[in-house]
Amino acid sequence: MRQSQLFPKTRKEAPKDAVSVNHQLLVRAGYIDQLMSGSFTLLPLGLRVVTKINQIIREEINKVGGLELAMPLLHPKEIWSETGRWDKADEIMYKLSDSRKKEYVLSFTHEEIVMDLLRKNINSYQDLPVSIYQFSTKFRNEPRARSGILRGREFMMKDLYSAHTSETDMMEYYEKVKGAYVKIFKRLGFDFKVVEASGGVFTDKHTHEFQVINANGEDTIFACSECDFSVNKEIFEGKEGEKCSKCKKGKIEKIDNTVEVGNIFPLGTWYAERMKVYFMDKDGGKKPVWFASYGIGPTRVMGTLVEVSHDDRGIMWNKVVAPFDVHLVELKGKNEKGKAEEICNKLKEAEVDVLWDDRDVPAGEKFADSDLIGIPVRLVVSERNGDKIEWKERTSDKSELLTFEEVVQKLQK
Ligand code: ATP
Ligand code: MG
Repeated sequence: MRQSQLFPKTRKEAPKDAVSVNHQLLVRAGYIDQLMSGSFTLLPLGLRVVTKINQIIREEINKVGGLELAMPLLHPKEIWSETGRWDKADEIMYKLSDSRKKEYVLSFTHEEIVMDLLRKNINSYQDLPVSIYQFSTKFRNEPRARSGILRGREFMMKDLYSAHTSETDMMEYYEKVKGAYVKIFKRLGFDFKVVEASGGVFTDKHTHEFQVINANGEDTIFACSECDFSVNKEIFEGKEGEKCSKCKKGKIEKIDNTVEVGNIFPLGTWYAERMKVYFMDKDGGKKPVWFASYGIGPTRVMGTLVEVSHDDRGIMWNKVVAPFDVHLVELKGKNEKGKAEEICNKLKEAEVDVLWDDRDVPAGEKFADSDLIGIPVRLVVSERNGDKIEWKERTSDKSELLTFEEVVQKLQK
């Protein structure tokens, strides 16, 4: 893609109300735009990153048998009254009514909607288990929406729901999904902890959160210095500095400021009992289905990646989520014509995704934009470099001159 055609252009200054790093850099580099507090447009570059994040999630969830679908975002009051969450979750819901005074809520999660789908379609144990998921918008009336795209009032979520004939089956699948989440967050390049937590408005059972340590995070966890024991402060019983009850070796440390990028919930039969989702078991008995739900916020993931990987010049994407594989920077000379275009085309033939800076602007501006946008590899084509291409990685200060073939080889590593 030609950078001259990219919308919008980068900005030198961040908006005044952008207080967090992810907000400042993502706006300046042209990934997101804020419409109002907590509500963002994913601009073409931002949508590319989120699409890549989603694809990683999709691949791992498909591997554990998830089936992708799409559910409505406008929900009738009645369905949320069946579980009592119309009142219980009132604070975070955006409720509205139409001209006929019928009441609705904008989707903030989908357990009740999935339950309705299940009761229409599940009869016997042979219809279970079911595992379905979607990528869709969630609306939550967040009191403080000041951490940029980490906390939106409208944001993207991958939500997976599974239904089972027994607690054992549910917990086995829960562990499988936990494993899939570990793979997802590793592939995304995070250093994270799997933390035991409370279920909030979802369940009285303990749940697991996937937490990334970062200064802009709003959660606090207690974790062992030696083993993988870690719990959210909401359920931590004990004191900082005491011996770990799990490994009996390490000390419990308090970690302020973590970002929750994912959360999984073994919900049990609570929803099925309230919404009458029963199945006929092998012995002919009528039983409620066992239910679990699993969320990841891809837009929060994008913001968190920026928080953990940037410098004072801009973003540093890793190659699995970067909007392009390479940033081809053309420094236009008097005599050379079409060399950058030729290299761009050859790279495309080699299946390399290229952002080609074809603009007539000074070299310094091109380099500054390249650092701000943060594509992992910058290739400079110029008269001075002759037939060679200058290779520089965003995370390094060193550059080297390579032939086209060497560039392609290095990209494939
Ligand atoms: P938090 O405690 O941060 O408010 P939550 O526990 O209410 O989040 P869940 O209901 O567990 O969130 O949602 C699943 C995932 O959706 C979260 O792990 C997070 O990645 C994402 N998410 C939740 N709320 C938001 C938000 N306001 N903006 C962006 N992403 C969000
Ligand atoms: Mg959560």
